[in-house]
Amino acid sequence: MKRARNFSAGPAILPESVLEIVQKEMLSYRDSGMSVMEMSHRSSLFENIIEEAEQLLRELMGIPEGYKVLFLQGGASLQFAMAPMNLVKTGKVGYINTGSWAKKAISEAKILGVPHIDVLASSEGDGFTHIPEIPAVDEAYDYIHITTNNTIEGTAFQTIPRFVNAPIVADMSSNILSNLYDVNDFGLIYAGAQKNIGPAGLTIVIVKEDLIQTEKTLPSMLDYRTHIKNDSLYNTPPSFAIYVAKLVFEWLKDLGGVTEMVRQNEEKAGLLYRTIEESSIFTSPIAVDSRSITNIPFVTGDKDLDAKFVKEATNAGFLNLKGHRSVGGMRASIYNAFPYEGVKELTEFMKAFEAKEG
Ligand code: PMP
Repeated sequence: MKRARNFSAGPAILPESVLEIVQKEMLSYRDSGMSVMEMSHRSSLFENIIEEAEQLLRELMGIPEGYKVLFLQGGASLQFAMAPMNLVKTGKVGYINTGSWAKKAISEAKILGVPHIDVLASSEGDGFTHIPEIPAVDEAYDYIHITTNNTIEGTAFQTIPRFVNAPIVADMSSNILSNLYDVNDFGLIYAGAQKNIGPAGLTIVIVKEDLIQTEKTLPSMLDYRTHIKNDSLYNTPPSFAIYVAKLVFEWLKDLGGVTEMVRQNEEKAGLLYRTIEESSIFTSPIAVDSRSITNIPFVTGDKDLDAKFVKEATNAGFLNLKGHRSVGGMRASIYNAFPYEGVKELTEFMKAFEAKEG
């Protein structure tokens, strides 16, 4: 059995050792005679899984007291709406527009009728090829929303801005646990699990509890307070995804935690970027000071040659390298579980392609 060199942006590659544990425990989890998929979410076995998952995530990210960790559903896309529903108090919010997902977040706030939405900085005019300069903001906002890593465009904030009178809400879907962050810099962090954490269907929310002491009446499932009060067990949670997430957290901790992950990710991204820089046919559309280490786009500048590369790469076993339909070209998504050897093989393939086509 050969595992593919899978560069998918999400759902994405998971650690092989985690998949092996899942396979081993599939028919009978810890002598229970059933898989985690078949188990009551009210059983003590499952309660232990969700508690351990939370503890491990707290440890890995250094999540302080006063922040709640929630295991929800609906994807990061639902958080585009839940964040404003739960956090808007005065009605004034700010957004930094760094890409397609940021735009969707803004659009949901508009649909909800948030009265005052300021886009405080945007790189849309430049095709989102860099993170815009972030202005100093002294005014009070209920929150200012950023996308720490822009999955489609391949850019990432290199430092997290600080605003004196506004907490930051961060969409961390494509680099949670891949970059090192201080949770204290954020009021709310959310991320779909399907890139760095586990199967699709699970969304992680980390929220500073004192931000949501509002008097609002919201539908129960859309109210963070419901999930806080019930330790993410108000209704049936995505139990299998939480179980796999727990295994991924254990894998990450055994490897040395987020610091070690950052080291490995920088090594992988460094190798790929060097190959692009030294290439006579591939270029990076992204400003050097805005580069993501998890999603790396590259182009030849010729659509037909791009398509040829993707086709030949696919035939050689390098899968899902086609760039997002909105930007074209190629994109290698190399999250935590993507091995260095796979990136090395890709760079060798790129050099061979260049020698042939260049
Ligand atoms: N935000 C970012 C940065 C993403 O990369 C994605 C998914 N690719 C989303 C939001 C949407 O996530 P979901 O599909 O979990 O709703």
